[in-house]
Amino acid sequence: MEVTLQNLTKIFPSKNKKDPTEVVAVNDFTFTIPDGKLIGLLGPSGCGKSTTLYMLSGLQKPTSGRIFFGKDDVTELTPENRGVGLVFQNYALYPHMTVKQNILFPLQNLKGEDKLEKEEMLKRAYETAKLVQIDELMERKPSELSGGQQQRVAIARALVKMPRVLLLDEPLSNLDARLRLQTREEIKRIQRETKITTIFVTHDQEEAMSISDLIVVMKLGVIQQIDKPQAVYDNPVNLFVAKFLGTPPINVFNGKVLNNELYIGEEKVLKVENVADQEVIVGIRPEGFILDKNGPLSCNLSNVEVMGRDVSIVSTNPNSQNPIIRSIIDADNEIDHESEKVRFSLKPNKVFIFSKETEKRLF
Ligand code: ADP
Ligand code: MG
Repeated sequence: MEVTLQNLTKIFPSKNKKDPTEVVAVNDFTFTIPDGKLIGLLGPSGCGKSTTLYMLSGLQKPTSGRIFFGKDDVTELTPENRGVGLVFQNYALYPHMTVKQNILFPLQNLKGEDKLEKEEMLKRAYETAKLVQIDELMERKPSELSGGQQQRVAIARALVKMPRVLLLDEPLSNLDARLRLQTREEIKRIQRETKITTIFVTHDQEEAMSISDLIVVMKLGVIQQIDKPQAVYDNPVNLFVAKFLGTPPINVFNGKVLNNELYIGEEKVLKVENVADQEVIVGIRPEGFILDKNGPLSCNLSNVEVMGRDVSIVSTNPNSQNPIIRSIIDADNEIDHESEKVRFSLKPNKVFIFSKETEKRLF
């Protein structure tokens, strides 16, 4: 099912009489989600991810704009009539019901021509349980399950009605690190198998990168960039996106462009084309540094952290916006740990130049 969000806007009026400022939670969101894809809605807390999802589900009404599932305008439809499956961070299972009863519940509530025979309901419940690999746990109560298993039950409950669209709001946030990894791979597998158009909300860039076909990066209700995960990482449109993606995070310097040369401090670090002379912000990915004793960028060496395959060099530079610079280099490099200075040359495709004024990328 293709899903279109058309100029979708949600404004929450102020409840505070002294401060009439309203909150524009989602601001003119326009995007068509291709059929059968998994979309990661990514951004910091408060940027409007959940509000976007609630509008898609029908739990919240947009202030303006329309929502289409395929050709159907669903903007005025109630949640029950949209055919969406919803999964939240807190699994929200019925504690007094078994896993089986929890999964059956949405089917038992179907009315009219959607109503199913008891046999059919059971068959569907078991098929869905098998899909999320909890078919052995059907007689247990939620309290007898791990967090990961509970979340699978919640996903099964969302899938059992065969929704047109699956909406997941930070579904992994309550799981510990290992389960989070495992469950996110499960979600990817289930999505591939069912081919249900899925919107996955997260504030965790690594999670979004690893699971999504396309990432939508949001900031303060406004879409910043939509692209494949690797493309967003390789070609961030602005400083915010560059900073939001990547671990360790991108290193940020104050710099300037003069006569087609990029300067950090007094050091000419790179040749650039088609950028007018101006003060700029320079972003350098940790993997963009090459250890080079004749390299143009000099930093003060603080620490060398051995990580096995790679080495992480921690250094400082007066023009860095962050207290430390982190560069990841191959462990085969010989590093003089006692040295005070370390010099780098830079990989041009790992260096991004942003306008100091607008923080937009200068290409
Ligand atoms: P996210 O899910 O990205 O953390 P939300 O969509 O929950 O963000 O919230 C977006 C903005 O809208 C925030 O500033 C939040 O405080 C505000 N907001 C969300 N829900 C309400 C509400 N029911 N009433 C007023 N403001 C709200
Ligand atoms: Mg949220």
